[in-house]
Amino acid sequence: MDLNAMPSVKYHRGDMVMGRWPGSNLYYEVKVMGFETKSQLYTVIYKDGTELELKEQDIKNSYGFQPRSRSRSRSPGRRRSRSRSPARNTRRSSSRVAAAVAAAGITESGPLSHRDSKLKEMVEVRLSPLQPTTAAENNSNSKHENKEKNNTAAKVNELEPEPEKNQSRYNLRRRKDDGEGKPQNLKITNVVTAPAVMVSNQLDFGGKIGAYFWLLFLPSWVLFVVLQVNLEDPSLTNVPPPLPPIEAFWEPQALGFVVLWILFQVLLYILPVGKLSEGMPLRSGEKLRYRTNGFFAILTSAAVVAAAVHLGVDVTYIHSHFLQLAVATFFISVLLSVYLYIRSRYAPPDQLALGGSSGNVVYDFFKGHELNPRIKNFDLKFFFEMRPGLIGWCLINFAFALSEMKQQGLDTPSHAMILVNVFQLIYVVDGLWNEEAILTTMDLMHDGFGFMLAFGDLVWVPFTYTLQAYYLVRHPNPLSFSAVAAIVLLKLTGFYIFRKSNSEKNAFRRNPSDPKLAYLNTIPTATGKSLLVSGWWGVVRHPNYLGDLIMALAWSIPCGFNHLLPWYYMMYFIILLVHRDSRDMCNCRRKYGSAWDEYCRTVRYRIIPYIY
Ligand code: NDP
Repeated sequence: MDLNAMPSVKYHRGDMVMGRWPGSNLYYEVKVMGFETKSQLYTVIYKDGTELELKEQDIKNSYGFQPRSRSRSRSPGRRRSRSRSPARNTRRSSSRVAAAVAAAGITESGPLSHRDSKLKEMVEVRLSPLQPTTAAENNSNSKHENKEKNNTAAKVNELEPEPEKNQSRYNLRRRKDDGEGKPQNLKITNVVTAPAVMVSNQLDFGGKIGAYFWLLFLPSWVLFVVLQVNLEDPSLTNVPPPLPPIEAFWEPQALGFVVLWILFQVLLYILPVGKLSEGMPLRSGEKLRYRTNGFFAILTSAAVVAAAVHLGVDVTYIHSHFLQLAVATFFISVLLSVYLYIRSRYAPPDQLALGGSSGNVVYDFFKGHELNPRIKNFDLKFFFEMRPGLIGWCLINFAFALSEMKQQGLDTPSHAMILVNVFQLIYVVDGLWNEEAILTTMDLMHDGFGFMLAFGDLVWVPFTYTLQAYYLVRHPNPLSFSAVAAIVLLKLTGFYIFRKSNSEKNAFRRNPSDPKLAYLNTIPTATGKSLLVSGWWGVVRHPNYLGDLIMALAWSIPCGFNHLLPWYYMMYFIILLVHRDSRDMCNCRRKYGSAWDEYCRTVRYRIIPYIY
């Protein structure tokens, strides 16, 4: 970088100008330190010593700014106030916002008095046009977040830029009041227009080669465990397991049943029953609506299955034709994935998933190219994520309980079978009861809908999560009363952590100014969103994963310790959640920068306190 000679550039070394704070529309006074011709980036330094690299359009001359007048409040929802929410105690030590506070020369007691040492840890932030901040990231989703941002801004004597002349990169607009008794939705949204072509430059799951591997491995693994579990000795070392004749893999009737089941779930989903819930804001600023009537769907499905059993339908067919049902469902998941990929080729760029847009056909097919494929209002990802596979999981478990009674000549299912059935039923019913909470999860917010989710939802969940019940049909494991009591206690502990932590984050993301959450501490981020740093999310960075893992343990123990196969779910789940945690860490690091580092410094452990 040439710090001295800066030929024919707009700003020169030593100029005092206003620099846009990344991901926001806030400008602060900065000093130009240099210009790199190759990257066309200016290095600027804030008053506190924080260095950033900014593009020319993120820099303005100081004379283009007017000090904000208190009377210039643009809408009641944006009225600025110096008073902070008295209950919410926002941390602001070395986050980017803290840097901005310090940059404006405001001194505060507390963490900022250690400013110098803290600021040494500041990371350099580069505004990259290839990784646009999403609208969700930029949105101030509530009064509280606006309040935090506004308060911070007020303290730093924020200067407001003149209206943008060139809005090609940022399209700043005001979101309308959503009305309908939701005054908290009155807020300003910074909407980032998506570039015409987006290319994911960070690929998950081993990248392009990994995609080939998973496409082959995942179906093979399901086939392996499904063939394995029915053996007398279902040892994982039986490789390859004895293969049935080729015609045993396929039965048109099994395909018919799967299609019927999916259509039945479609019917329940489209019935105008239940609430319409809003999803998180998309990059375009739009919020999709979802029919969250999953609880109604499982109740109706249970009633229909009970009626069918009463009328003499033999649901143990599911046990005797498990392989054919799995193959038929796999076939449907492939067809669905192909359809999803083809339609994604015609989707507008702002509707594509950032993580599934590598430009490589196989990777994008696997990872999911389109974020929220919809046929009119029918949201395919939401439907497949929550309905046929999840409710099918309970139906299969129920069929296995009946098969156990039939095969072992029992009047009632065994204790182990009852525990597995009830525990997993609780998990699914809870998910459907709190269906709205899925709208703030990674799958719904960030992952595209492709083979990974289609296969996962339709095949992986119903045909591998049921292995414990399947195993118990032929491998009974008697349990003492005290063992049952201990397992129930374990399950309840896991469930409590899982539910509380998921609900806490969901409630906070939906309404950060919810008075019920006022006791929680937060870290503001430069995107306008805050991070919870106390409550469950102050214990570990993924308390919901911890609860889920404890529950997984309670699902495996009833099957005993004779074979590894019923422990497969536990082992797989550890790998899944550790990988998911690191994926999420990367995403959050990208989104929240030094605020995320601050969160990680404060909350040291990822999933298990003092261990991991
Ligand atoms: P999370 O629900 O944990 O969502 C992660 C997101 O939460 C982050 O991207 C971030 O999004 C937000 N976040 C992270 N930290 C904080 C914080 N401190 N304060 C506020 N927001 C924060 O992840 P998943 O979607 O992976 O999991 C959802 C549930 O589903 C979990 O309980 C998991 O166990 C379960 N699950 C179960 C599976 C199964 O097969 N049984 C498979 C996968 C998940 P942002 O900031 O953008 O809001």
